[in-house]
Amino acid sequence: MKKCTKCKEEKTINQYSKICDRIKKDGTKTIRISRVCKKCINDYRKNYRSKNRDLINKKYKDWRKKNPEKCKKYAEKMKAWEKKYQNTERGKETRSKAKKKWIKNNRVKAVEIMRNCRKKLVDSYVNSLLAKSTGVNTNCLDNNAELIKVKREIIKINRLIKQK
Ligand SMILES: [Zn+2]
Repeated sequence: MKKCTKCKEEKTINQYSKICDRIKKDGTKTIRISRVCKKCINDYRKNYRSKNRDLINKKYKDWRKKNPEKCKKYAEKMKAWEKKYQNTERGKETRSKAKKKWIKNNRVKAVEIMRNCRKKLVDSYVNSLLAKSTGVNTNCLDNNAELIKVKREIIKINRLIKQK
């Protein structure tokens, strides 16, 4: 147990970040445990960000202007990372939670989007129907283009039949 110098609470060591203090000439690092707990650091960061939002945005904008190449590379890296993350269990969970939350807060818009998806038979909509009818998880189907194509045609035919 260790006492945080900020909130003065006793916490276990894994609630503190490890900090690389200095790197010696032979390359060995001195690691020490932060004096302030992770929660306090996070609170401080959040606070700082909300207080200095404009300044941070401006700095970021300037940096982007000055380093278009670096920025492009960074964006690509982030995109690749995001893609990788989205395929992890945790990433999938985060995504579906965010989606549910958005739908809850934007019900009218969500209904409209769903109606549009249904009308246009977009891939994600067809994929979800495919998952429903086969009982296979949508993530396992993972937007299989061939399957979606077939399913889309089936839906179209079914709709035609219903119309008559
Ligand atoms: Zn603390």
